[in-house]
Amino acid sequence: MGRSDAVIERAKKAAGQKRATRKKTSAKKAKKSSSKKSTSKAKKPAAKKKKEETISHADRAHALLSASGSKQWINCPGSINAGRDIPEPPEGPWAAEGTHAHEYSEQLLVQIFKDYPGVSEYTGHKEIEAKDREMSNFIAAYVTYILNQTLENEKVEVVDVFIEKKLTLCPERDMYGTADFIAIIKAPDGNLYGLIIDLKYGSGVFVIAKDNPQLEYYACALIETFPQYDLKGVKVHIFQPRIKCKEGPGRWDYFPAEDLKLIREEILHNADIALNADPKDPSNFEAGEHCRFCKCKDSCITYAAHHVKSVEADFAEFDELEKGQTPELSHDTVLRILGNKDKIKKAIEIVEKYCFEMAMQGHLIPGTKCVHKQKRKRWRTDVEVDEIAKSLRNRGVKNPYKEPQLIPFKDVDDEIGKKMCEDLKEQPEPEIAIALSSDKRPEVDATTGRLKD
Ligand code: SF4
Repeated sequence: MGRSDAVIERAKKAAGQKRATRKKTSAKKAKKSSSKKSTSKAKKPAAKKKKEETISHADRAHALLSASGSKQWINCPGSINAGRDIPEPPEGPWAAEGTHAHEYSEQLLVQIFKDYPGVSEYTGHKEIEAKDREMSNFIAAYVTYILNQTLENEKVEVVDVFIEKKLTLCPERDMYGTADFIAIIKAPDGNLYGLIIDLKYGSGVFVIAKDNPQLEYYACALIETFPQYDLKGVKVHIFQPRIKCKEGPGRWDYFPAEDLKLIREEILHNADIALNADPKDPSNFEAGEHCRFCKCKDSCITYAAHHVKSVEADFAEFDELEKGQTPELSHDTVLRILGNKDKIKKAIEIVEKYCFEMAMQGHLIPGTKCVHKQKRKRWRTDVEVDEIAKSLRNRGVKNPYKEPQLIPFKDVDDEIGKKMCEDLKEQPEPEIAIALSSDKRPEVDATTGRLKD
């Protein structure tokens, strides 16, 4: 039995126990109410949901002012209008892995919570396997975490569950987000509370729960989407299994309903600033770690300047180069520059492109000028190649044609199939490069060129 199967078995058991407790409790209540007429208002059943409100992770559309992008547009309001005409970038391998993990977890959660009305209408998930054992274990841990907060938590009753549910914060501004897992919980005080659990499958950036705009957005949107529950507060968890930290993979924040009214007002205020921000006004842009998923990143001058600035001081140590000396770099400088290598290269590209575009529009930036790139002669294009070769032979060149190179492996594989000519390939000694110690490739001994033990 795999770890995921074991989790499902455990969940079934917990669900069975909850059902039994629910039956007992409702039987008791029924008895009480028949002997004593209750004057309290009966809770309205949840409104029947439309199917389009639940959607598979891969098919999620992103709102312009989305929950997941809120950190970006709150910190950099100009990014919304600047990015309007920029298409979404294609899904990279890390994002695809995250989508796979989410879809796999949806599938498990749907099996576990299928008796709840919010889940029985769910149609989005596909039948998929975990990509590997690592994914299976991490998702089993995520599902176990959800069980601990719901079916295995004896203090609460789970009233309803929603998976991959679209939560609308403000329909007029088209503001919505899709939450991975939602439960409506009845607490021992008799009131209903919202529970949202958000899976973060990335391992690159540690995501905090406190003061997290995405979680605040979800919490407000849950209250807006389900007014019929009269929720007294919302607890929002992040579960990030692939980053090891003291606190463990799960962390949370809690918002009383009263606070969420004010938080919602603030989010809508920031949304209006972003919707009205002039993309030509540099004061509307602010770079920072929120640029990470911004689609303007490849052409944003504020982003480029930010990265150049972050290592500017380090380049002072290179002044010695001008005096013909080898610079003595501090270890910190080496690590900072190598760690920002790609960003620095990108920043230079963006700045050059920006300056060139300004020059083309007649606004040369003071201190810059346009020059010719290095000139390289080439064979005349107005004369046939054979004519040039003939002429070269006549002048004493024995073979005017360079030996043609062999075609790339990929072209051969496409033509006759993969692995049909492995015997003709060899693995040359790879060149050695410097990388940060966090790099995933195995370490090589620089003096021998061999892999270290
Ligand atoms: S890359 Fe950063 S600074 Fe530039 S628009 Fe996007 S969020 Fe703003």
